[in-house]
Amino acid sequence: MMAEIKSCAAETDAAMRQAMALARDYVVGLPRRPVDAKDGSVAHLREQLGGPLPDDGCGAADAVDELARFAEPGLVASGGPRYFGFVTGGVLPAALGAEWLTAAWDQNAGLYVGSPAAAIAEEVAGRWLADLFGLPTDCAFGFTTGGTMANFCGLAAARGAVLENAGWDVEDRGLRGAPEINVVVGDAVHASVLAALRMLGLGRRCVRRVALDDAARMSVQDLEMTLKELNGPVIVCAQAGEVNTGSFDPFQEIADLCHAHGGWLHVDGAFGMWAAASASHRHLTLGVERADSWATDGHKWLNVPYDCGYIFVRHGQHLVRPFANVAAYYPDPGAQRDGFFYVPEFSRRARGFSTWAALRSLGRRGVESLVDRCCGFAMRAASELRTIRGVEILNDVTLNQVLFRFVPETRDSGDFTAAVVAEVQKSGTCWFGMTTWRGMRAARLSFTNAMTTDADVDCTLAAIAEAVMSANRSASEV
Ligand SMILES: *Cc1c(COP(=O)(O)O)cnc(C)c1O
Repeated sequence: MMAEIKSCAAETDAAMRQAMALARDYVVGLPRRPVDAKDGSVAHLREQLGGPLPDDGCGAADAVDELARFAEPGLVASGGPRYFGFVTGGVLPAALGAEWLTAAWDQNAGLYVGSPAAAIAEEVAGRWLADLFGLPTDCAFGFTTGGTMANFCGLAAARGAVLENAGWDVEDRGLRGAPEINVVVGDAVHASVLAALRMLGLGRRCVRRVALDDAARMSVQDLEMTLKELNGPVIVCAQAGEVNTGSFDPFQEIADLCHAHGGWLHVDGAFGMWAAASASHRHLTLGVERADSWATDGHKWLNVPYDCGYIFVRHGQHLVRPFANVAAYYPDPGAQRDGFFYVPEFSRRARGFSTWAALRSLGRRGVESLVDRCCGFAMRAASELRTIRGVEILNDVTLNQVLFRFVPETRDSGDFTAAVVAEVQKSGTCWFGMTTWRGMRAARLSFTNAMTTDADVDCTLAAIAEAVMSANRSASEV
């Protein structure tokens, strides 16, 4: 027995020392690392990581060492300061430390008795977040894998509530024969909201799309007309932070219309909710607190490790109803907060720890300055991009997203923009991708990483200018 314990300690020691050294080098090296995965890595990765399952194990330290060596060429520096693709956060040092402890502690955050520490950390971090976002102090919340599942949880609550108003208990009777629910979304709805609806049995035909206004917000006139045509249960999905433009829907007007119609207002605020944590950006979220549910992400703007998202619901009973678990061996609910009443999973990682540590390390002011810094970079990038000939900024840069394209005199704008983006990606200096906005092919920069500095913005802008020249050269050669 003693020998076994000793060897467990030795193996743990070896594996963790190895991981610590490798992880530290990786994180500290991120600013200097080429951003995209190295070329030709697919076959190499398959070869290195692949093969049949070995009959004999190699031991902990070697397994960690092999993993690190084999994975290396396929790693993308998406946690680094010059990754501007999609909407991608990095990892705060405090959140990283907490995440290591979370793995070592290996607590099951489903039940309070499974880990009082995990339960209370979640309880406190959830309250802190609600406070940061200006949400009702008594709202219920759940810790999810991300924005998609946060949307799922909010819409599960919504589905139950609007059907209850129509005299139908969906938790008892399911959807067969239920009154038809109409779900109203803006035309720029995030795909994950539609996926969440499909998982809830609310397929494409339940969804009504509302046009956008000139500022890329849900059109209030169109919403009003749409609602007039609808009878029966209604859910309206508004958005705080559209993925291309960073735009915010007009929540005051939407809340008025939705609630006058007896509807449930859900807000997808995967990254845009964080604007509410900043005095200088809070105005963008005006009226958001009038919604019935709010989904947001931790692994984007809070810069906690994957995976982490949050759902908040004004009246908690609606969130609990679809997920409440009862089993003979569970303690009586009610005395303490059991995390599994608020999300689909029973057993899960204690993601409250990294959120708690991130918020504790930054404080209210630190979160605010993280948001302001990223938005400042976006403003600066947009104004300097405007000085490049042929650049057109396609969004009103009020948050952290910059949407732009190149309109050269003699070439197709979409092709040229794609050529510049490909050139930038190839350089390895920084990474951002393409999107389609109002039928136009466009490039998109998202500033969401806590590590990004002014110097990173400098070399990103230089890389773009360089790529434009290079794309022009290859154009004149053909
Ligand atoms: C990222 C995002 C989502 C999905 O969140 P995940 O954490 O990737 O599941 C939903 N809505 C918006 C607006 C997003 O930006």
